[in-house]
Amino acid sequence: MLSILSVPLDENSSFIKGCAKAPIAIIKAFRSESSNMFSENGFNCGDDKQISVLDNLELKSGKVAIEQIKNAVEDELKNGKKVISIGGDHSITYPIIEAYSNNFESLNILHFDAHPDIYDNFDNNPYSHASPFARIMENSLVKRLVQVGIRTFNNHQKEQVQKYGVEVIEMKDFSSNLSLKFEGPVYISLDIDGLDPAYAPGVSHPEPGGLSTRNLINIINQLEGEVVGGDIVEYNPNKDVNDITAFTAAKLLKEMIGKIMNS
Ligand code: MN
Ligand code: MN
Repeated sequence: MLSILSVPLDENSSFIKGCAKAPIAIIKAFRSESSNMFSENGFNCGDDKQISVLDNLELKSGKVAIEQIKNAVEDELKNGKKVISIGGDHSITYPIIEAYSNNFESLNILHFDAHPDIYDNFDNNPYSHASPFARIMENSLVKRLVQVGIRTFNNHQKEQVQKYGVEVIEMKDFSSNLSLKFEGPVYISLDIDGLDPAYAPGVSHPEPGGLSTRNLINIINQLEGEVVGGDIVEYNPNKDVNDITAFTAAKLLKEMIGKIMNS
């Protein structure tokens, strides 16, 4: 059983807001009659005995919101559910991983993004969407962090990934036949801006030269390992064009559900 948790939080976005509107838009595209509910590997994401779409979390702000997210995920995991969280900006991944690391030993993260999001300190906000992977790594919450699609390194972030032993597949070195293998449970954190803005224009930080939707689906479907959860973050409906990004996020949601439920 799997729960889809909507997490409308964008107060930790450093540049522009708007991601808080994403969950409703993604769920609307997910349920749109323009497509059916099957993932490419043949799972029926419309099976409401196995997949529940939870109500939007009603979040307060600051540290309280971070605690609320952790507790909401923890509640689902304690009930034996896997969770896919729909953001919101990337700040939501730190409390989600706190909950996951309490419930899964030797957790791996596969992180798609244009940005490494590992600033030690960004704007003096420890929960900034530019810092979740610094918080995760300094608290030793996971065994292995693999980042794919990165194309915005500065010197500080390079030092941070070296310090924490993060494995990075930079976009400049990316090859479309990438295949990944993990020992132990895998969590997929999917920042929509890992995609090229041509495929996903609705983001706050568009960074040209990124992954195609097909690249991303193939990496997810071909990866060896047990995927136990994930998130889709940083979709900003205010910046979208003809709902392209909403439908892309909804497609990736179906593929992530299929991978979790059929692997
Ligand atoms: Mn990003
Ligand atoms: Mn990110």
